[in-house]
Amino acid sequence: MLELRPNCECCDKDLPPDSTEAYICSYECTFCHDCVEQRLSNVCPNCGGGFSPRPIRPVKGYREGVGLEHQPASSLRVHTAYSDAELSEFSALIKATEPSKR
Ligand SMILES: [Zn+2]
Ligand SMILES: [Zn+2]
Repeated sequence: MLELRPNCECCDKDLPPDSTEAYICSYECTFCHDCVEQRLSNVCPNCGGGFSPRPIRPVKGYREGVGLEHQPASSLRVHTAYSDAELSEFSALIKATEPSKR
């Protein structure tokens, strides 16, 4: 199940569960749309994969035991350990290759 992390790993922007700006890689590394486009060039700094918009979990439990009522979003903020220079360097190596070919 997705953790629905609360912030962008790069710029620390809040990304609540209903945010349409939240993007995730296949490992759930979570970033805002601006950082994905402008700082990372669609390269996850942790795994090298591309990003997709994070799905929004409904607030209401439309089926038994599901929804944010039962599985709330994570409150544990995550921050990248990489500097701006390291992020750029890593992205530069990989960004020219489409995510499906990496
Ligand atoms: Zn960001
Ligand atoms: Zn990743």
